[in-house]
Amino acid sequence: MAFLEINSVRKSFAQSVAVENFDLQVERGEFISFLGPSGCGKTTTLRMIAGFEKPTSGEIRINGVDMTYTPPNRRNVGMVFQSYALFPNMTVADNIGFGLKVARKSAADIKARVAEMLRIVHLPEFGGRYPYQLSGGQQQRVALARALAIQPQVLLLDEPLSALDAKIRVSLRNEIRSIQRELGITTIYVTHDQEEALSLSDRIVVMSNGRVEQIGTPFEIYNFPTTRFVASFVGTLNVLTATVTDPARGRLSVAGQEITAAKPIEGVPANQSISVALRPEIISMNGTPASNGMNHINGTVDDVMFLGPTMRVRVRFGDQALQFDQFNNPHLNPPQQGQPIGVSFPPEACLILNDPAPR
Ligand code: ATP
Repeated sequence: MAFLEINSVRKSFAQSVAVENFDLQVERGEFISFLGPSGCGKTTTLRMIAGFEKPTSGEIRINGVDMTYTPPNRRNVGMVFQSYALFPNMTVADNIGFGLKVARKSAADIKARVAEMLRIVHLPEFGGRYPYQLSGGQQQRVALARALAIQPQVLLLDEPLSALDAKIRVSLRNEIRSIQRELGITTIYVTHDQEEALSLSDRIVVMSNGRVEQIGTPFEIYNFPTTRFVASFVGTLNVLTATVTDPARGRLSVAGQEITAAKPIEGVPANQSISVALRPEIISMNGTPASNGMNHINGTVDDVMFLGPTMRVRVRFGDQALQFDQFNNPHLNPPQQGQPIGVSFPPEACLILNDPAPR
């Protein structure tokens, strides 16, 4: 039995369906991210786990107990919001101790716990200050301390770093991960930032349009996306439309040129269109034609963007395009727009995606 179970959860509002058929089993101590673009249902799902929204159907269990309709204050769940949501008229210490006071803990217990929390978030001297006397990053650390003070079963973080500037974001991100590890607390983290999700999580739930696209470790999600959406949103891969020519041999045709995948293409008959993702870092220019087992495609340079250490080259062939990065070599002429070009990539670089190619 998983520590947090979300079973077939659906949430519809009057005008729209926000979350559909959501299933997730979270182990105790796991760090899970919900990753997806704005409006895909991440926050609604998090709010259902917190108890701020009721599922239209389905079930949420924490530590074996059905919590689907339990009010938020009886779930023992800590939440951190993008906007910090500190009480402005209370000191840092009172903010952190708020939940303990509501739970009628003794003054001595509250004092000790608040001191412990201030130490954990590296603000030991800040207990007497008010929120307006703190930077954004410090306020968010106080919000984190407040959420953790009640020793929640589950910690929920809703885009906690989005209001902060880039440098603070990276340092606080590392801090959140180390605090989460130190306390071993089961955590759900909502973000639309793929780098945050990849760097923080044990597993990522990629969402789009209220549905789960894929669940996996950062390694799996980045290297082996299963859908077109995950390939382009997380991995920034090239996604091509191909026609299967010989499924048993993994052979495909892309804009009239033959390529081969490393494995047979299962469950797809010949002549059907499929989506194929190609990792840009595996593609190279001017490779030798297929003799060495590499795939080879001929096209035309469509665009070259100079990025300093690398150049991003886009190559067009027929109605399709792919792009890749080349190291900048000052002693070689860069490719020119309109120039014919050959690109090579190994069969293993072709990832066959589950969803059909768009028509
Ligand atoms: P963001 O990153 O912008 O917060 P999100 O992925 O968290 O996006 P949600 O806030 O969960 O997305 O919203 C999912 C869908 O549900 C959206 O289409 C949104 O308009 C809709 N929605 C959310 N809350 C409500 C509500 N209270 N009433 C009606 N529709 C809602």
